[in-house]
Amino acid sequence: LFIAFEGGDGSGKSTQARLLAERLRDEGTPVLLTREPGGTALAERIRSLVLDPEHAPVDSVTEALLFAAARSSHVRQAILPALAEGTVVITDRYIDSSVAYQGSGRSLGAEQIGALNAWATDGLTPHLTVLLDVDGPTASARREARLGAQQGAVADRLESEPDSFHEVIRQAFLDRAAQTGEQTVVLNADQDPELLAEQILNRVRPLLQD
Ligand code: C5P
Repeated sequence: LFIAFEGGDGSGKSTQARLLAERLRDEGTPVLLTREPGGTALAERIRSLVLDPEHAPVDSVTEALLFAAARSSHVRQAILPALAEGTVVITDRYIDSSVAYQGSGRSLGAEQIGALNAWATDGLTPHLTVLLDVDGPTASARREARLGAQQGAVADRLESEPDSFHEVIRQAFLDRAAQTGEQTVVLNADQDPELLAEQILNRVRPLLQD
């Protein structure tokens, strides 16, 4: 079973991915909790290169190719082997992030990014995508709180994008969800994390029995 968490910066998806992994493990289910960009040593190196403010601005096409290269490594070296063993794979971000950030945010187009990533992943799609949606002001406040916690240091060059960029991303995620239909569940992420985790678990449970 392959589950992806998607959403904008400040949507709380990393927290929810972790909570789901913890709950499934508590029930005795083997879980690989992983993230993008990242998930293999090589992909983590690509992550630090592409997010390093020292390399900003990264040209959009270069950025899209680097994210796709990281994803290819992640799928072939980590996700597929885990799935083959019967491990549940939970990833914090997957292809929809590229369609939203590079396709819409960087204006490269959803089709182009979709085709690139279909090749990078050999067509592997999640059984379920959980899209965590929060309104602009809430997400913005969460991002600012995070930046504050980092004592003003911009650890990630993309954290400095304006709110309008994040609005474009949010809409792109919602459009993508509307296209993928039942494979994506959209949840309001502006609620108690424990309650949200329950809703997600209720969506995942029936899939475990398949
Ligand atoms: O989700 P996470 O915080 O780990 O993502 C790292 C950064 O990479 C974020 O700033 C996110 O906006 C950005 N990103 C991106 N394109 C992707 C995936 C992530 O610009 N396809």
